[in-house]
Amino acid sequence: MRVERAEKYGFCAGVRIADKKVKKFARLGHRGAILGQVVHNERVVEEMERLGVGTVEALEQVDRGAVVFSAHGVPPSFHHRARERGLQVLDTTCPFVYDIHDEASIALAEGAQLVFIGDPRHREVIGYTHDLDPARYHVLHTLEEARAIDWARYARVKIFYQTTLNAEEFEEVVRHIEAECPGATRADTICYATKENQDAAHRLGQDPRIGAIVVIGGRRSANTRHLWEICRRYKPSYLVQGVGDLDPSWFEGIDTVGLTAGASTPDYVVDEVETALVALGAPAAASGGAP
Ligand code: SF4
Repeated sequence: MRVERAEKYGFCAGVRIADKKVKKFARLGHRGAILGQVVHNERVVEEMERLGVGTVEALEQVDRGAVVFSAHGVPPSFHHRARERGLQVLDTTCPFVYDIHDEASIALAEGAQLVFIGDPRHREVIGYTHDLDPARYHVLHTLEEARAIDWARYARVKIFYQTTLNAEEFEEVVRHIEAECPGATRADTICYATKENQDAAHRLGQDPRIGAIVVIGGRRSANTRHLWEICRRYKPSYLVQGVGDLDPSWFEGIDTVGLTAGASTPDYVVDEVETALVALGAPAAASGGAP
């Protein structure tokens, strides 16, 4: 049995920078709390806790020190609220997420109705919408939801995607909006890093040598689940958080196992899983580079 890593996998640039910023902050002796997980990976969250930067779910739970805003970003009003509470802010919001905040503000000022294709409960989407007048935006991701809205009453509509989505899966939804509203335009907001990991997962799945695929990532990570869904189209695929989730029976009779990881998975977890697979009888293969 061999192990083949995807050509692209794991930490994206935004998460890599967020991870480094929080670790440097902790090394300098600062203490505080991260609002939501800094990335959707339980191992990273535990590591941050050991460094003295735990995770909270609400700003009100932080009463001193610093609050860390994760790569997903926060509603702009959270910066004011943090200052009002006398908190220091460590902002690790990804620049791509800030681009969407900026573009949405411009579209709003120009009178457009905003549409966010994504999960209304996802922190990134909450960051875009929390401070807005509910009459000025929609969050949706199904054709049924799109059909339920009278798009013709809007002169202009600006469509944004949650960064980690696979745009192709929502083409039908977006085309429906465009057909109903001639003033609808799309913003190019799909994250390049996510798409690269997804494209590499397709290639991994299509590799005829590979009998099964292991996808590593946090169970709450949307982009990890998307990778898993892609891999499952081609081969038996298993979503694991780490070595402890591996089941040797998955690989019986399989010569080559594919390996990929979500954008919130640190390199050391990928290495650990590969080592464990090797220990099951697989010599490690030459691997592609992580983003
Ligand atoms: S997936 Fe893309 S948008 Fe999200 S944090 Fe990473 S680089 Fe930024």
